[in-house]
Amino acid sequence: MEGCTDCFTTISTSCLENDETLVFELKDEDGYGRMHRSSGMFIDTILDPIHGDHFLKFPARNSIDFSIELQKRVPPHTVFLLNCTNPDAFQHVLRTIQSSQDADRFAPLVALPQLMCDNESYTWTWTAPADCSPIGLSGLPNYVYFISYSEHEKRFRVLARFRFFVCSEVIETPTISPMPPFSSSELLCTSPLSPGSPSSLNSELLPSSGHQLQRLPSTASQKPSTKLVHSATIVLPDDPEDSPGFRSILRELGRKTECFRGDVKKLLKRIQELSEAFEFIAGALGRFMESVLTASATCPAAFQPLVETYVAPSLQHQIRLFKSTCSDLIHYVFEPLERIYVNDLKLATVKRIEFEEFSKNYYTSLSRYLANKTTDMAKDESKYLVKKKDFELRRFDYYCYIQDLHDGPKTQDILAIFTSYFYQQHEKWVHSSESIDSLHAQLDGVRNGLADLTLGLNDLSKKRESRRRKIILETTVESPIREKTNEKPIKQSFPPGGLGLYRHQSVGAASNLSDKSSLYTPSSPAKDGNAIIKEGLLLALSKPTSHTEVSMVGKTSWHKYWVVLQRGKLAEYVNWKQKSLSLHNEPISLAYACVKKAESTDRRFCFEVITPKFKRVYQATSESELHSWMRVLQETIKANILSGVNQERTEFVSKGRPRGMRPVSMFSESIQQHPKSRKSPAAVLRKAFSGRKNSSWGFREIFRPEPERIPSMNLEKLHESSKIFISMLCKSDPENLHCADCGSSSDVTWCAINYPVILCIECSGIHRSLGTHISKVRSLLLDSLSQQLKQLLCKVGNTNVNAVWEARVHESDLKKPSSRSASIDKQAFIKKKYSERGFLDIGNVDAKAQLVEGIRTNNIRMILTALAAKPNFSRDSCDFLAVIKPDTSQLYLLELLLANGLVIPPESKLTGLVSPEVQAFIRLKRPSGQ
Ligand SMILES: [Zn+2]
Repeated sequence: MEGCTDCFTTISTSCLENDETLVFELKDEDGYGRMHRSSGMFIDTILDPIHGDHFLKFPARNSIDFSIELQKRVPPHTVFLLNCTNPDAFQHVLRTIQSSQDADRFAPLVALPQLMCDNESYTWTWTAPADCSPIGLSGLPNYVYFISYSEHEKRFRVLARFRFFVCSEVIETPTISPMPPFSSSELLCTSPLSPGSPSSLNSELLPSSGHQLQRLPSTASQKPSTKLVHSATIVLPDDPEDSPGFRSILRELGRKTECFRGDVKKLLKRIQELSEAFEFIAGALGRFMESVLTASATCPAAFQPLVETYVAPSLQHQIRLFKSTCSDLIHYVFEPLERIYVNDLKLATVKRIEFEEFSKNYYTSLSRYLANKTTDMAKDESKYLVKKKDFELRRFDYYCYIQDLHDGPKTQDILAIFTSYFYQQHEKWVHSSESIDSLHAQLDGVRNGLADLTLGLNDLSKKRESRRRKIILETTVESPIREKTNEKPIKQSFPPGGLGLYRHQSVGAASNLSDKSSLYTPSSPAKDGNAIIKEGLLLALSKPTSHTEVSMVGKTSWHKYWVVLQRGKLAEYVNWKQKSLSLHNEPISLAYACVKKAESTDRRFCFEVITPKFKRVYQATSESELHSWMRVLQETIKANILSGVNQERTEFVSKGRPRGMRPVSMFSESIQQHPKSRKSPAAVLRKAFSGRKNSSWGFREIFRPEPERIPSMNLEKLHESSKIFISMLCKSDPENLHCADCGSSSDVTWCAINYPVILCIECSGIHRSLGTHISKVRSLLLDSLSQQLKQLLCKVGNTNVNAVWEARVHESDLKKPSSRSASIDKQAFIKKKYSERGFLDIGNVDAKAQLVEGIRTNNIRMILTALAAKPNFSRDSCDFLAVIKPDTSQLYLLELLLANGLVIPPESKLTGLVSPEVQAFIRLKRPSGQ
């Protein structure tokens, strides 16, 4: 009896002779059963040598009643009984029922509804088939299964089973009888109910295989079955006598057992490894799925479409499969096989030694018995017979044991174990593959969607590729710096987000800036004066240099600053590549600055921003950037000046206006924002000129990047003297109040010393653009003009200059511009007047003679005319110097000559040529190195 002991206690039958009852008792969970006759007599069994099954043996009958007792309820399943002639037929019936939907698919089964009640017994009657024509074992084998079926799970469960054999009357059966007189307690029906039997596992259907025992009418049609080949190396007799042949069989089987034991041991180890591997794979798959889900949460676009539709369900199937394969290997293969190994194979040596020991004892006692000549023959005989019986019993047991291991129940058990496992394995893999296959549509969907996405990405990569090509082809690498004008609102900054974004993100970091208000305000549509005009990467030394510092050679520590032009100021930021962006210096106000290309450095792309206080040299990243920066800075300076002038005028007109109501401009803003800059030159100048009510003079002036620089400490003093100088200048010639070229009366604070002519700020810019060989421009206010130069300017004046340089202006088509003329007209006029010398009337003037005569007679017009005729200074310098008055009264003329290219002769020639006073003056003017 095998199976679920929870359900059945005993199955008894009273089919034996003398109405005796045969009782199966289920003892423990493993299905160990005990069977005995009620009389205590021995139970006959029969062995199927081909199939290896032990059967309870019943004499020929037409029917047998079995009484089945139920131990406890087994709801909710219905319990059935199935009787068939071989295990294959049993499997076939079950499969038919499982796969069919017919109402009568349960027909082959005998339902046992009574078993639903506690402690009831049910009688099942076996009836012999009508056309029973047994062959082979001369009888009919019967397999009886108690099964339950779960509609929910759609599967069967074997509760218990047993086998019996009904002999045919005609042929004498080769039974293993007469059986030795076993005591009833010894008769454990171990053979068919071995602990290692897979059926003891209460498992699902147990596929079992084997030969059809007989060609008997089967309860079900035959399913295809594989012919199993039995090991035929040793032909085992049923009950051989102890002989050399028997002993040699034993030895051979013993040797085989040893080998087999080693094989099984190795096999167990491999099964364990395999199971661990499956477990590892299941774990790895689980971890894989976990990290895919995590990544999917972080970046849904990369994973989510596939994870939701395919990856998660597919991986779950796979994990389940590997987990169940792992546990199946342990429960259905390893454990039962290990039981066979421990309970049977490992005992082989012990049993052999025991048998040999017993055999030795028996033959000793046989010798003793035969040699004994005592009178008490009967006693000896009976003693010997007992010993012989014991020995025969031992011999039989050992023979059965060793037979079972090679061609009996044990081999069948092992086969059943593996068949069962692989049968389940097959079903599970097929099921899993079907499940995963059903997800294929989703996988397809994602792939098709991906193809569409790829098309979109191709467009993107094409765009990027063409952009890359453009960058490569550009001769100068385009820098990320962008130019902005007031008309263009800032759309985007660089680095991504720009400083604006930066400030937005880290207000805390911005707080360490010395001047928060100088930081970027969010880009607003221009014209509010706050927009970033231009920003970008520039290199510069850590500190500004002084005006007198000429060479930048040897200065190696150039730093990269992010420079921002905004509100008329140039702000430098350090650490712009990191988070902690901070202002490097006080933003440089461009109010009094000028910009020019730097020539005093050996580095490329350099330009200078010159303020009254210092000179700042910047290096741009490319030629185009250099020009871009210079242009933008110059425009800004100009715009600053214009708005500043207007501002000044407004201030003068509305002096009584309350301070807080002053119109806002860049200028006033900068004054308000930077208390320090209240002491700026503009403020000083405003103070200096405050007495001058009717001023047509501006206060704005721009530094020129020429060598004579005003040390900042003398600035205030200079402006005091400038005030006096300018008033002197205007007194000497009222035309000096107006620009010599355009007649403008505002910002007439410039001059070109080689003519010498007084100019407005705008015309001075145009003069500068002509080059120093045409015009040497100076600021009347901010350049350090020598006394002689000031004297020269006062003595000459615009009236004299224009008398020479505009002598024939009325004959020209070009009209003299006014202060309101367009800049382009002013440019054209100034170019015509000075570069092309278009309005001169000098005819065939002898420049040398005129100049000598002019100096001698101190005739300014004559001197100017002579200079306009370009005297040859490289040849005649000494002649001109010779006529200079020996006192210092004509030193101012020397300034004029020097500005026009007078070549200073060597010291040796000077002596005797000019007076010592003049020589001392010339010595001061001599360029260093001569
Ligand atoms: Zn002008």
